[in-house]
Parts: sequence; structure tokens; C-alpha cells
Amino acid sequence: MKNKRLYLVIPCYNEEVVLRETAKRLNEKFKKMILDDYISKDSKILFVDDGSKDSTWNIIEDLNRNNTIFIGLKLSRNKGHQNALLAGLMTAKEYSDMVISLDADLQDDINVIDRFVEEYYNGNEIVYGVRSKREKDTFFKRFTAESFYKLMKALGVDIIFNHADYRLMSKRTLEALSEFKEVNLFLRGIIPLIGFKSSIVVYERNERFAGSSKYPFKKMLSFAFDGITSFSVKPIRIITAIGTAIFVISTLFFIYSLIMKFLDKTIIGWTSLICSIWMIGGIQLLCLGVIGEYIGKIYGEVKARPKYIIEKKLFEKKDLFEKK
Ligand code: UDP
Ligand code: MG
Repeated sequence: MKNKRLYLVIPCYNEEVVLRETAKRLNEKFKKMILDDYISKDSKILFVDDGSKDSTWNIIEDLNRNNTIFIGLKLSRNKGHQNALLAGLMTAKEYSDMVISLDADLQDDINVIDRFVEEYYNGNEIVYGVRSKREKDTFFKRFTAESFYKLMKALGVDIIFNHADYRLMSKRTLEALSEFKEVNLFLRGIIPLIGFKSSIVVYERNERFAGSSKYPFKKMLSFAFDGITSFSVKPIRIITAIGTAIFVISTLFFIYSLIMKFLDKTIIGWTSLICSIWMIGGIQLLCLGVIGEYIGKIYGEVKARPKYIIEKKLFEKKDLFEKK
């Protein structure tokens, strides 16, 4: 049963300072696994250049020239981590039995790749990498990331705690993934929906060995927002609940003020008046904003634009298989 074809998929955005070192470390790892007959000799490492502005693509071409274990895919422009990853996964599924996705900076320990593959050989179709501790992350990153997972859980999204995009997927599950047509892509939420037998591998997360994070706070926030609004209608329900509560309170208040009026106890109610105008106005705007967010999502889905466009491919199908 062993000796299956493994593809690694690595999205890269302006990663020139880490790429060669990453390639070297992965090549060593792969050589060992191939030598042990643990994975097939046709296994490959696929770099997806997500429209980098630096020399990332040149490095990928160079790596491929020197060693055909490295192959590359170039997107026509920057489409973001999730789309780049999907482009890689959808390409890799054509040629492989299983695919592992990971980041170019090797923050996720590559020594557990064997364990992912072992879980696959044990019959698991999806293997999730879960970060044990995040000591090496800054407090801010850890705090925001963990709050995000908790919030998603609270909003009823089936998401795996402290699992990012380090995971193994079998060809079958990738084919299932290709059936998900949504444009607002949040892979961590979609993949548990696929089902099949799955398991978890726990590992420690390291620091980036070079370069800087390509996920500044603004991108992280928009990623979290996309995740929530693509997967949960709870915010809309909360708005409805707030609206109902305010309606009930204002009805009670209305009755109370009528009684006061008849009892002739009214005073000049400027404060309460101005407060309620501002409060209701604020809440209405907030609610409109949230609803607008969902309408924006629908707008995107209806247009169904392609999620990525491949500009160049460093390989052809015939190059990827051993000639007999
Ligand atoms: N990335 C990408 N497109 C982008 C931003 C990031 O392909 O627009 C890639 C990046 O090259 C890296 C991975 O996504 O391989 C994760 O990014 P990073 O390590 O900067 O994120 P962090 O670990 O800080 O969350
Ligand atoms: Mg990183």
C-alpha cells in the first residue's frame, strides 16, 4: 500500500529571502522519505508564486532547472494566500495520491511530514496539523489568533482549534473540495465539511527563520471577517435579537411615558430624547453595515469570478511521471 505519490503545495508571496533555504530543507526531507520507500519517487514539491513582486519566481525556475523535484506555478497576480493555496491544491490533485499544504517560511515543523503520511497510510483521508503551543508567536499574534478560533466556535462554525493550513488531503477529498464553488474562500471552514475519516497531528510552531510576515494586522482582520461572514449567519440573528429587544424596551417605555403624561409628571425630556436618537441611529447603522456585508458576499458569489488565473506552469503532465 505504501509508496504513494506525495505533493507538497507551498504558496509564496515575496518569499525570496526564505525560498532557497526552504527548498534545501524540504529536498533533504523528501530524499530521505523517497530513499526509505515511504513515498514514491515521483513525489514533488510545488511552489505557487502568488504574484510576487520580488525574484520569487526566478528562484522557483532556477530550483526547477537544477532539480525536477521542484515544480512551480505562477499566478497572474497576487490573489491572497487562500486562493494561491487552492490553485496549488487543484493542480496537485491531478498528479498525486496525497497533498500536504504548508507555508514557505517553514514555521510549521516539517519533521512531522512522516506522521502525516503515516496517518494517511492508516486510512485517514484528511490529516490536520495542530499547533501544540504558540510560545514562539508574539503575544499579540497568539491572542488574536486564539480569540478568532474561539469566536468562530461560538458562532457555530466547525473549525479545528489551532489548525492553520498545514494539512494532508487525499486525492478523493481534493476532488470533493473542487465541488465547493464559493468565491469567498475560507479553507479552514470548508474542509471539515467534506467529511471522510480524519485525524490530527500535533506539532510545535517555530519562528519564521527569515523575512517578515505577509499577514499584517489588516489582512488578518479581513481574513477573520471573511471567515465569519462566509460561514455563519449568527451575526444577522444577533442583530434581529437586538432589534427585538429594543422594540420591546421602547414599547414598555412608550406605555410608561403615556402613564406619566396622564399623571402630569412629565419634565422636559431632552436628555432621554437625544440619547435614544443617537443610540437607535447607531444601532441601525451598525445593523445595516452587517447586513450589507452579507449582501456584498452574495454579490461576489453571484459574479462567480475565477478565483485565480495561472500564468505559467513549470511542468507538463508527461514530465511528472517516470517513463517506463
Ligand atoms: N502568502 C501568499 N499570498 C499572500 C500572503 C501570504 O501566498 O497574499 C503566503 C506566504 O508566502 C506564506 C503563507 O502565505 O507562505 C503564510 O504567510 P505568512 O507566513 O506571512 O503568515 P503568518 O505565518 O505570519 O501568519
Ligand atoms: Mg508564517
